[in-house]
Amino acid sequence: MTGAGHGAGSDAGAPARYVIIGNSAAAIGAAEGIRQTDKSGEIILISDERHHTYSRPLISYLLLGKVTEEGMRYRSGSFYEDSGCKFLHGSAVSVDAKGKAVLLSDGSRIPYDKLLAATGSSAFIPPFEGLDTVREKTTFMSLDDAKRLEGMLGPDKRVLIAGAGLIGLKCAEGISERVKSVTVFDLAPRILSSVLDEGGAQLIRERFESKGIGFRLSASVRRFDKDTAVFEDGSAVPFDVLVLAVGVRPNTALLDGIAEIGRGIVINARSETSAPDIYAAGDCTQALDVSSGQERVMALLPNAYMQGECAGINMAGGDKSFDRSIPMNAVGFFGLHVVTAGHYDGDTYEEDGEGRYKRLFYSGDRLNGMILIGNVEKAGIYTSLIRERTPLSSIDFALVCEKPGLMAFTKEERFIKLGGGAG
Ligand SMILES: Cc1cc2nc3c(=O)[nH]c(=O)nc-3n(C[C@H](O)[C@H](O)[C@H](O)COP(=O)(O)OP(=O)(O)OC[C@H]3O[C@@H](n4cnc5c(N)ncnc54)[C@H](O)[C@@H]3O)c2cc1C
Repeated sequence: MTGAGHGAGSDAGAPARYVIIGNSAAAIGAAEGIRQTDKSGEIILISDERHHTYSRPLISYLLLGKVTEEGMRYRSGSFYEDSGCKFLHGSAVSVDAKGKAVLLSDGSRIPYDKLLAATGSSAFIPPFEGLDTVREKTTFMSLDDAKRLEGMLGPDKRVLIAGAGLIGLKCAEGISERVKSVTVFDLAPRILSSVLDEGGAQLIRERFESKGIGFRLSASVRRFDKDTAVFEDGSAVPFDVLVLAVGVRPNTALLDGIAEIGRGIVINARSETSAPDIYAAGDCTQALDVSSGQERVMALLPNAYMQGECAGINMAGGDKSFDRSIPMNAVGFFGLHVVTAGHYDGDTYEEDGEGRYKRLFYSGDRLNGMILIGNVEKAGIYTSLIRERTPLSSIDFALVCEKPGLMAFTKEERFIKLGGGAG
């Protein structure tokens, strides 16, 4: 641990200046990571969202009335003061990597010693014909989007949601009791197609349908005509409000031509980009998925925080690696819990029951992935096996499949899992 005045300053002895573009999970992780090492360097968080840092997944719960705006805060009201961070409302338009400064849309120039891009992702809006003729429409990515949608809702409103992924479905859950009808359409033949297999998707779909939410799958819109969606098969769906939740794209543009970009900003296990003194973390990045060995964008809140924290520690001169990223989801729909992790290749262990669904995917002595719906109590055991790449021959895997619990592990494994490995 270093004390006051230490860290990553360019002039010997001068406090370091850390600039973070973003104010969400990855950015907060970085600020907290920096403070683990450098107690006094200057930290500036820049965001084009004016709000106090908030938990993005809670925007649907705001519409449901399950949480207040204040209750959505990702950190306490005094976070910026307590951690000595300055919040700057503004939009970063470019990075001068040679001159080490960030340029904002109001013309100001913010110099940095170390920079973090924690810019997240933005909604992808397909070039639908006639979209400009739709009067009431919104994306569903931010607190401002949720407030905009709130203003459009009413008991006589028919809502059409484009996209049956996580964001579209969370939106449907959030508004279904407050409007006349909700219909969700998607090009894919099943809901949550990037997260669930067919059986799991069917179970969740039934839960939505039991709440009166309608689906049009394998369906694509030919054009919008004011308040009507005309589908490729010629059918027409009238609506009052359109929510666009087709997908997201990492915000990488700021580092175009500066650092290596693939699907997202490419980072290593230390959250470093290919450009000196520039780090990246969270939804704007692509990183190694240890469950598949492939580079992917893993747009998930826990990954964003952990990559951000790792970046912060390294920006401040520490030495940290986060090389345990896996795709993972822990989400609930109308009280039905779903946990998924890893990728779905290999042999399968299957278990089904009333409102329950379990699939474990394994090959080559490793657990690759899992889908749990309903009973998700012991999901952490499977997640840990996937993340740590634990050889299945070292545990009683047959027992772990049926009854996940620590007793299925060797004494040494149990010791490590119970925290005994830390020393
Ligand atoms: C409805 C919904 C439900 C979700 N549910 C889940 C869930 O159940 N589980 C889960 O793990 N994840 C969920 N997610 C995803 C999760 O919210 C993200 O993974 C997480 O917020 C990523 O954090 P981040 O810090 O990388 O980026 P973000 O949260 O996207 O924040 C990036 C910030 O940077 C700002 N910014 C971008 N560019 C600039 C610029 N040029 N200048 C200034 N500011 C800029 C943005 O405005 C934004 O405020 C959900 C997301 C949504 C929208």
